[in-house]
Amino acid sequence: MAAVETVRESPSALCSDFLNFSAKDTAANWLQVSNLPQEVYRHLACYVPKIYCLGPNLNPQNEDLLAQLLLQSPLEWYLCGEEPSMGLAKLEQGNQPSQLCGHVFKVGEPTYSCRECAADPTCVLCMQCFLGSVHKEHRYRMTTSGGGGFCDCGDTEAWKKGPYCQKHEPNISDTFQKDPLANISAEMIARTYNVFSIILKYAVDMLTWDKDDELPEGLESPARGDMYYCMLFNDEVHTYEQVIYTLQKAVNCTQKEAVSFATTVDRDGRKSVRFGDFQFCEQAKSVIVRNTSRQTKPLRVEVMHSSVVAHQCFALRALTWLGQIIRSSDALRRILCQVGLQQGLEGENSSLVDTLMLCDSKMWKGARNVYHQLFMSSLLMDPKYKKLFAIQFAKNYRCLQTDFMEDDHERVVSVTSLSVQLFTTPTVARMLITEENLMTTIIRTFVDHLRHQDLQGRFQFERYTAQQAFKFRRVQSLIGDLKYVLISRPTEWSDKLREKFLEGFDAFLELLKCMQGMDPVVRQVGQHIEMEPEWEAAFTLQMKLTHIISMMQEWCASDKRVLIEAYKKCLSALTHCHSGFTDGEQPIILSMCGHFVDTIRYCVSQEKVSIHLPLSRLLASLHALLSKTEVAYQFPEQLPLSELSPPMLIEHPLRCLVLCAQVHAGMWRRNGFSLVNQIYYYHNVKCRVEMFDKDLIMLQVGASMMDPNHFLMILMSRFELYHIFSAPDYRKRSSRENANKDVVQQNNTLIEEMLHLVIMVVGERYTAGVGQVESSDEIKREIVHQLCIRPMAHSELVKALPENENKETGMERVIDSVALFKKPGVTGRGLYKLRPECAKMFNLYFHHYSRADQSKAEEAQRKIKRQNGEDSVLPPPVLPRFCPLFASLVNILQCDVLLAILGAVLQWSMEPSGGHWSESMLQRVLHLIGMGLVEEQQHLISSSEDHDTSFNFTLKISRPGESPGNTPSILALLETLQNAPHLEVYKDMIRWILKMVASIKTTRECTASAPPTDSSGHSQEETVRDKDKAERKRKAEMARLRREKIMAQMSEMQRHFINENKELFQQSLEELDVSPSSSLEHSPSSCDSALVCVGPRRWRAGGSERRQMVTCILCQEEQEIRADGKAMVLAAFVQRSTVMSKNRKRPPHNPDKYDPLFMHPDLSFGTHTGSCGHIMHSHCWQRYFEAVQAKEQRRQQRLRVHTSYDVENGEFLCPLCECLSNTVIPLLPLTKTTCSSDQPDLSQWLNITSLQMKALHSAHKKNNCAEGADTGSAEDCSPPHGFKLDYTPKNPYSSTVKEMLTTFGTATYKVGLKVHPNEQDPRVPIMCWGSCGYTIQSIERLLVDEEKPLFGSLPCRQDDCLSSLTRFSSACWTVSSHTTVQSHFIRLFAALVPDSRVDNIPCILDIDMFHLLLSLVLSHPAVLCLDSSGMSADTAQLHFLHLVTVAHLVQILLTSIPEEVRMEQESAGAEREEEESVCMLYNTLRTHLGRGLCFSWLREVSSGWHLWRCVKAGILPYLRAAALFFHYLNGAPAPPELHALGAGEWEALCGYLCLPSNLVQLYNNNQELMEPLLQRWCSHPGVLQGLQTRAALIGFPRESNYLIELPEDYSALINQASSFTCPKSGGDKSRAPTLCLVCGAMLCSQSYCCQSELEGEDVGACTAHTFACGAGVGIFLRVRESQVLFLAGKTKGCFYAPPYLDDYGETDQGLRRGNPLHLCQERYRKIQKLWRQHSITEEIGHAQEANQTLVGIDWQHL
Ligand SMILES: [Zn+2]
Ligand SMILES: [Zn+2]
Ligand SMILES: [Zn+2]
Ligand SMILES: [Zn+2]
Ligand SMILES: [Zn+2]
Ligand SMILES: [Zn+2]
Ligand SMILES: [Zn+2]
Repeated sequence: MAAVETVRESPSALCSDFLNFSAKDTAANWLQVSNLPQEVYRHLACYVPKIYCLGPNLNPQNEDLLAQLLLQSPLEWYLCGEEPSMGLAKLEQGNQPSQLCGHVFKVGEPTYSCRECAADPTCVLCMQCFLGSVHKEHRYRMTTSGGGGFCDCGDTEAWKKGPYCQKHEPNISDTFQKDPLANISAEMIARTYNVFSIILKYAVDMLTWDKDDELPEGLESPARGDMYYCMLFNDEVHTYEQVIYTLQKAVNCTQKEAVSFATTVDRDGRKSVRFGDFQFCEQAKSVIVRNTSRQTKPLRVEVMHSSVVAHQCFALRALTWLGQIIRSSDALRRILCQVGLQQGLEGENSSLVDTLMLCDSKMWKGARNVYHQLFMSSLLMDPKYKKLFAIQFAKNYRCLQTDFMEDDHERVVSVTSLSVQLFTTPTVARMLITEENLMTTIIRTFVDHLRHQDLQGRFQFERYTAQQAFKFRRVQSLIGDLKYVLISRPTEWSDKLREKFLEGFDAFLELLKCMQGMDPVVRQVGQHIEMEPEWEAAFTLQMKLTHIISMMQEWCASDKRVLIEAYKKCLSALTHCHSGFTDGEQPIILSMCGHFVDTIRYCVSQEKVSIHLPLSRLLASLHALLSKTEVAYQFPEQLPLSELSPPMLIEHPLRCLVLCAQVHAGMWRRNGFSLVNQIYYYHNVKCRVEMFDKDLIMLQVGASMMDPNHFLMILMSRFELYHIFSAPDYRKRSSRENANKDVVQQNNTLIEEMLHLVIMVVGERYTAGVGQVESSDEIKREIVHQLCIRPMAHSELVKALPENENKETGMERVIDSVALFKKPGVTGRGLYKLRPECAKMFNLYFHHYSRADQSKAEEAQRKIKRQNGEDSVLPPPVLPRFCPLFASLVNILQCDVLLAILGAVLQWSMEPSGGHWSESMLQRVLHLIGMGLVEEQQHLISSSEDHDTSFNFTLKISRPGESPGNTPSILALLETLQNAPHLEVYKDMIRWILKMVASIKTTRECTASAPPTDSSGHSQEETVRDKDKAERKRKAEMARLRREKIMAQMSEMQRHFINENKELFQQSLEELDVSPSSSLEHSPSSCDSALVCVGPRRWRAGGSERRQMVTCILCQEEQEIRADGKAMVLAAFVQRSTVMSKNRKRPPHNPDKYDPLFMHPDLSFGTHTGSCGHIMHSHCWQRYFEAVQAKEQRRQQRLRVHTSYDVENGEFLCPLCECLSNTVIPLLPLTKTTCSSDQPDLSQWLNITSLQMKALHSAHKKNNCAEGADTGSAEDCSPPHGFKLDYTPKNPYSSTVKEMLTTFGTATYKVGLKVHPNEQDPRVPIMCWGSCGYTIQSIERLLVDEEKPLFGSLPCRQDDCLSSLTRFSSACWTVSSHTTVQSHFIRLFAALVPDSRVDNIPCILDIDMFHLLLSLVLSHPAVLCLDSSGMSADTAQLHFLHLVTVAHLVQILLTSIPEEVRMEQESAGAEREEEESVCMLYNTLRTHLGRGLCFSWLREVSSGWHLWRCVKAGILPYLRAAALFFHYLNGAPAPPELHALGAGEWEALCGYLCLPSNLVQLYNNNQELMEPLLQRWCSHPGVLQGLQTRAALIGFPRESNYLIELPEDYSALINQASSFTCPKSGGDKSRAPTLCLVCGAMLCSQSYCCQSELEGEDVGACTAHTFACGAGVGIFLRVRESQVLFLAGKTKGCFYAPPYLDDYGETDQGLRRGNPLHLCQERYRKIQKLWRQHSITEEIGHAQEANQTLVGIDWQHL
């Protein structure tokens, strides 16, 4: 590939050429020339190709520097006429800073909007402005920016209140706007003008240049080489993977390079992937195109000459430069705007700005971003030019949108997305409507792009291609633009505005006409439909238009003339649509009860019917507005009310409602799911406002203008029920319809639905204009009905309420008046509960209830009533009054036809069975009767005012039926039904009705006789109520007495039971306090009252050692725990841990070479063992595990699913509690020890042990040498008396116990070191001791931090786990090679008693003393077993404890005495003695370290007060851990002082551990023995080294680790994350910034750029981080998602609720709601506790078991 090498000037030559260049001279020259553009172009033509694009790899820093020197600098000189820095500084002084903040948002940056003051939700503030604004005290919304857009601070139109933050508050002096140009000289203006026009033109020319191989005139460079780039362009069609794969093939690059190319292409929109001669680049291009052409569209690749690319690079740079330079001066900014918008030679729309916009879709992403930014910082920041720009934008609107339809880039990088900046400014929007007819333009453009219509001109979305679907998605953005334009309603209307709005309204009606009746359906009979028809597109359109329709209505409502005109237009459009209303349909006449009506024969179940009726619905709402605004009463003459044909108006909405009823009745089953979905959305909160709700209003509109009897007959006819009720013998329905049960069932449902509809038509009055209500009443009622179902969280309520275009439901204004807030606990969320007094608003037939809601609400309400001891009847509520226009609707209740229907149903219900009526039907009838009565009562109450007593429902229902024969009246029927046994459930309601009737009758009589008063009606009712109350009280009292009696009986029975089983109870009580006292009796040293856990005087289990019985959870058999019996095991989970690490920077150990014998005091890696405490036989467990394994293998063969546990790694779920486990711990009995009275003291013992060590060491050496055949240096050493080197003790354990000892040991080794299992490895016992030590230490820390006593507060499972873990650790040596364990002991012992023969022993500063103590104690049996001299293990344990304690004292004195001198104090008595002795020890240490040296590390102290306190605090955790250890090892009960918190812990601990409470005595009492040890410890080279580099030293006590501190306000985190850039791809924004809660590191998660390799697999940044930071376990906060992430290993993870809550006590995972979030400390502490308890993995396991979808997520890529 030699051809690639290109000739290029050497850098030095380039430099020298450039060095001679003078910007000042060049600028001076330019001042002289006549043709400046030509001269500047010549300059650019010469230099640009020399700076940019000289090789395959661009070098941005270098290029930018040169560009600054050679290209920008002369321009700046020219512009300023002097040294640019001086000139620009002067300009800056004269600058009037814009009052707009204009901060452009980065991706992921937090933005704030005030829900009270923002003109619309697109008005946002940056964090800085927000914090300095009044809105931070308001109800605000917080979101993260998707990039683009800017801060609206300072825009007075954007905010109803507080438009400025403190920083952007304008000075009062310059409130009047000056012309910015007035500040600078005319020459300067001219020069600036020149420069800007040349450079802007250059940039525009280059960016819109579409030739790959030549340059615009004047820019051709004389010397052009054969240098090309193969440029790859971005599209949204191809995936990352496709691009990466193709590039690897085409340009032979590595995967890594390909990823980097792809990332850049995605970010910048293009990237050169090859550099070389034309041929070479062309070749790559053809490979790429060939490889990708199989997909929909090949990747776009172009071979471009390097000089073209170079000029384009500089063009971008030049635009950025312009943006920078205008920032310093509003004058320059204005000139730039002027230049940009100046009309070009081609006339209209030919300015540079126009050119850029119109070429937008042809430019690559990077170029678009740069020029959009420039627009934002220039045109949009200048109030005058913003308007001019908006006009140009509007003029080009149709063109731009058409381009965008074809553009394959997202809208954020399209110039069309600037519409939000222009259209949301109300004055600009208003101007564009009037001047540019923008509304009409947008709507027409929209309609044009949706041009697939059927014969009737309706939209048709069947046969809908992918291409069209794409376009359909795009075209929806136009609706967004329309919304921006309409979002702020005019307060004043000009004639021009009226004219243009109505023109737009016309266009809008045209759009709705295309939707009226679209997607019609026909009932399928016989066969099921073959293909589900497309329905989503139509509903998407409807949903998107919902807000627009509402806004149109609000515009109309704001001006009477507009409303009248709009109403007329809408009516004529509707009439036009349905001129063929009766086409083909036969006219018929219906008659009932002596009423006749003309209508048509039409069956929903047979003809076409459509759910989409936007025109009808718009007219319905305009009609309600006529009423609401009172236009209908003020200007009736201007309204076409007489032209209205009520039957025509209701026809289509009624058909739609009937369709729903028939679907409910199951008549449309064969039409499939698409219809079910449509019906669902029709009622859904997202659509119902402009669908179902409006259909109902239209029925009300129609019915209010019709005879109610006619209305009901048409209703029945459309429900196809007319024949049932109209036939003369309709009351004997049963006889006729026996034939078909299904039909009966169907008709029953239809009757129910129809009755419900009548209830709604009469009862739904909560729309302003229909009833006399405010909009807040409407919301209140919605909330009340939601809360009647059950208490709800804020977000649930929000979801149940329709949002307006500002995403507001208006709930906050009224919620407190109807609900009480209940705060959340540590889990769960805050809930709103209905105020009891609001329950009376409950309406069982609330129109927004689904059937399920209805029955839930009914049940809940009845329950509450019963609990309050009230009647459980749910009568209809008192309703607001209708507005006059709708007032006649109440007559439906008392019209003849309705009464006939009610009577018929009541008549049917007389018969208990037969299925010809349903209970729901009856319930609805009773409700309707109730409504009539309530209505009449209300009329009576208010009749004193208007004397309107024409409504006389009671009279009507008392009259007998009119049909032949003496049919009884409704009232009579009810009285009969009251006693019908089969209607028990409805008795309450019937009784209520009858009581109401009686009460009304009395009222009427009173009014008739006496002057009517409100109170009479009331008092009447009140007496009734009082009586009720008394009755209820009596009943409640009786119930109480009954309860008490039962209770008494029960407690009597209990007493009896206890008496009978007395022995049993006593036994268990005795057993409870048996342990300490009775066992002490058996103890050999029973005279010793103190409890001691270690040493010869320790507590011993009694001679009759208590047997421990356990039950296997698998076979339920009881089993005694014995060393020689069947092994019992505990399910356990072993994991690596860094929870206690004091050094997270320590790199992970190399598992093969690491020697874990000595734990470093930083505890950087440990092995934790936990258990759920469930016990099994080892053989039962083995069988269970094998079964799990087999099942898993089958499952994996069948389908590749993950499970929450990894069988191959030995994982399983506890068979009882499903807790994740990966091994089992064997249960062992306490070891029996005896102790002879004659035991060696410390010095004797030390002597003997040293001799034993010597002998062992040489014996080992001899053995090694014998094997190695090297007999040179083995010195012979005779062992001390009674020490038999070749003795092999008998193993006391049964084979199954041994097997389990090996199993658990190997598992601990495998997990702890991350190695393959090898039971022979010498490190197996070490890992077991380590895990025991680490687990005890971590539990000790937990107890401290949770402020719990050391003993008695652990849950059983932990207690059992620690006990079995400790006993196991003391036994695990028996299954290892004894020689190995002995040599471990030799080395451990050498750390305390230095031994020249043993090397590689760390100094005492580098040893964790608790681990040392524990390992010594646990490895010693392997040595002790050789001894037959009668030395006891207890003696050894005590001596180990004493020695290690002294070593720890020294360690603490060396490391943990703070530098700063505190107040020294003098103490008296015993304290005094301790202080003096510690002081002495300290000074001895100073001596050993050498006086000169130690000065800097150990300062001199005069008194021990401070020292003693430091020592005590430092050593306490060690003592506590030791106490736990010996407790579990030896089984000694702990003294009561340690079962409680408080003073005395120290003394109790020391006593329990058989230590003097002045620990230094250990040293003082054996000074001659200790002194040489001390000296040798201090002389270890490691000590000096450690003290010199003090920083790395670990101090004691080690502080507990906590999760990082989080800010109180969540937005602080978002802000922090928004400035975080991906560490790998140089300054890029990270898509998923994720915070490690353990160490505070921010990571770039879920992204290609930060993937790395771990153990041969690609893993994401989080997984990689957990391996270093958390030994595989990680806790993260995904900042953009507001979500906690738990990870364990590579395959496990789950999401967890974040510790941030909004004011309503709810989390916001995904940040969708945008309520301000604040840290909830309790929840954060809960997460922290999970972590510190090592329960993260367990938590993940439970989450994955509960939610299988979590298992499928690729956690390792996060
Ligand atoms: Zn701002
Ligand atoms: Zn501001
Ligand atoms: Zn505000
Ligand atoms: Zn068993
Ligand atoms: Zn369990
Ligand atoms: Zn971390
Ligand atoms: Zn990254």
